[in-house]
Amino acid sequence: MAMKFPSEPFKIKVVEPIRTTTREERSRLIQQAGFNIFNLPAESVYVDLLTDSGTAAMSDQQWAGIMLGDESYAGSRNYHHFEKTIQEIFGYKHVIPTHQGRMAENLLFSACVRPGDIVPNNTHFDTTRANVEFYRAQALDLPVVAARTPSLPHPFKGNMDLEKLAALLQEKGREKIPLVLMTITNNSVGGQPVSLENIRAVRDLCRLHQIPLFFDAARFAENAFFIQEREPGYRNVPIPEIVREIFSLGDGCTMSAKKDGLVNIGGFVALNDDSLAEEITHMLILVEGFPTYGGMAGRDLEAISIGLREVLDENYLSFRISQVRYLGDQLDQAGVPIIKPVGGHAVFLDASAFLPHIPPDLFPGQALVVALYKDYGIRGVEIGSLMFGRKDPLTGRDLPAPNELVRLAIPRRVYTNMHISYVAESVIDLFSRASSLKGLQIVHEAKRLRHFTARLCEVGP
Ligand SMILES: *Cc1c(COP(=O)(O)O)cnc(C)c1O
Repeated sequence: MAMKFPSEPFKIKVVEPIRTTTREERSRLIQQAGFNIFNLPAESVYVDLLTDSGTAAMSDQQWAGIMLGDESYAGSRNYHHFEKTIQEIFGYKHVIPTHQGRMAENLLFSACVRPGDIVPNNTHFDTTRANVEFYRAQALDLPVVAARTPSLPHPFKGNMDLEKLAALLQEKGREKIPLVLMTITNNSVGGQPVSLENIRAVRDLCRLHQIPLFFDAARFAENAFFIQEREPGYRNVPIPEIVREIFSLGDGCTMSAKKDGLVNIGGFVALNDDSLAEEITHMLILVEGFPTYGGMAGRDLEAISIGLREVLDENYLSFRISQVRYLGDQLDQAGVPIIKPVGGHAVFLDASAFLPHIPPDLFPGQALVVALYKDYGIRGVEIGSLMFGRKDPLTGRDLPAPNELVRLAIPRRVYTNMHISYVAESVIDLFSRASSLKGLQIVHEAKRLRHFTARLCEVGP
């Protein structure tokens, strides 16, 4: 039964009041922000669905762990707990703490990626791509074809395209390909899961060519939950066993603990290769810190060790995935166009279908984001032509992105189902009067990553 109301497997001990705002106030604030939600004061947002990264609520156990922080420069007991926890969950020998995921990526690539190399991935997350390119290598995305069709249901839409990977490894070999990456879940195609069957096939190809396989593990527990739910033979396999099986197929991983670590900051690299680990550790000391704290305080290490256990709890995971799906199902039943199936951490609205009267060059996704904030106090984010549009080098005109989407990312353990119902009702209400929305024009933009700082204005009467 898809619409089952997911019940919260926690009760609330500490509350953070939300300031209420009026429509007039929000209308003024979004104007001052240049119609860009990155410029808004966060306090003026009622339900903040900008990202699921670093926005989780920690448990009472994690807060208790914060008080057990041992802030010794070297040999902190929290590092030993951190190392042991990660060795047990992921099964890798060396554990290298970093302040967040992108530093884990940077350190790993600093030790193995050379100019002119190619790094294949089911789909690179944007910081992963940027770090590969920083080392003057090519970040190549090889998602399955199904991933490119928003409305096409597929149980493992995050999978790697095996034929394309096989051909690439055959052609370029280990001379040009220092490692293969797999992002679980596949964030950039909508938090879609990867199957164990697909991971096993990728591992076989990597073995054949003697190329290491690494995971980008930010949402590993959510991916394991989807395997348990959807992959034949895994219905009764406990989540920790599925996790061990996934990681046993690879040589290491990078992790942003700001997602499935259930903390607000942190990350790590874990791997088996001794000499690679040694090289990464030298670099770690240079740019992050001593090997027993990396870029974190002892208390942060403790909170991650506890969070990594909590995220494997089936009651937690089932609630988490159901809450996101619950939002998607309510919107879908009301006819609101969304990406299907709903992924692990967010619901994506299809803005071109939501606002067919606004063409891509007037940013339908951003128009939707602005209306959601102004009329309901909800903050989502545009993933469309404002974020990914390119200037045509010949004409200087904006070329549209492949899709005009709005992402509603759900923070972990932060909002109750009533907040989620409020979001669903608001989006459905907006959908009923979508034709009254206006497009937007850019009045100021930066050369790179313009969506963060652009200023816009409304067009039309
Ligand atoms: C967030 C994320 C990263 C980067 O991690 P940060 O902690 O934000 O630096 C890398 N890969 C994926 C899949 C992510 O979601």
